Amino acid sequence: MWHKIEESIFPPTCVITGEKATSTNLDIGEQILNQLQLAKEICPICARYSLTNRTCGKCLKEPPIITLTQVGYLLDDILKEMIHQYKYHNQLFYSKLFAELLSPKINQKKVEALIPVPLHINRLSTRGFNQSLELAKFLAKNFNLPIIEAISRVIDTPQQTNLTKKERKKNLQGAFTVNKILLKNINSIAIVDDVITTGTTINEIAKLLHKSKRSLKIQAWAIAKTPKLKTKTKTLCYLE
Ligand SMILES: [Zn+2]
Repeated sequence: MWHKIEESIFPPTCVITGEKATSTNLDIGEQILNQLQLAKEICPICARYSLTNRTCGKCLKEPPIITLTQVGYLLDDILKEMIHQYKYHNQLFYSKLFAELLSPKINQKKVEALIPVPLHINRLSTRGFNQSLELAKFLAKNFNLPIIEAISRVIDTPQQTNLTKKERKKNLQGAFTVNKILLKNINSIAIVDDVITTGTTINEIAKLLHKSKRSLKIQAWAIAKTPKLKTKTKTLCYLE
């Protein structure tokens, strides 16, 4: 009932064109929605490029801690701009839209709780919100799952922009801590992030969670993954 009233007062409006978006019933018009690139040609475990959508050679050779990575889209220019508006222009309302876009692409059957990628307190106070937590809140609501903030960011690491994968890994050393008590009675979780670039951040968090509780099954969920890289030396970076 309230939903219907809300809809008539605030009809869905496209965040890009500003036009009414009643056909999608989301704050994104059909034409723009159809332009977004669904996540494809990716490895189901690590979300790296995989032409056949099958497990990539790297994951076959050395199965990573994260057993499944579920992403909605590839990070194209439209989505990049939307995420930029969300994070750097205080457009918090995007969190609901991103959760609505991502939820239908997720199979949450084997997940008991969500762990958002944390921000350091310094960045949190500058931005005013943690984009991964805000996204996780709507995903948690959609899937009826709890959020457990079991990971904290204790070192204010420099921006990962323009760092190679190796440099990113070094940059994140010791950056996170885990609150083991919150993992008690939890068997499976999904780490929630906005965009997966190299996967360094989520892998560091996964490593820490695994160290704290070996039996924990770990997935990663994100709105988007950066597409296949054209250069091997520099990653196609996205600001955290
Ligand atoms: Zn893989």
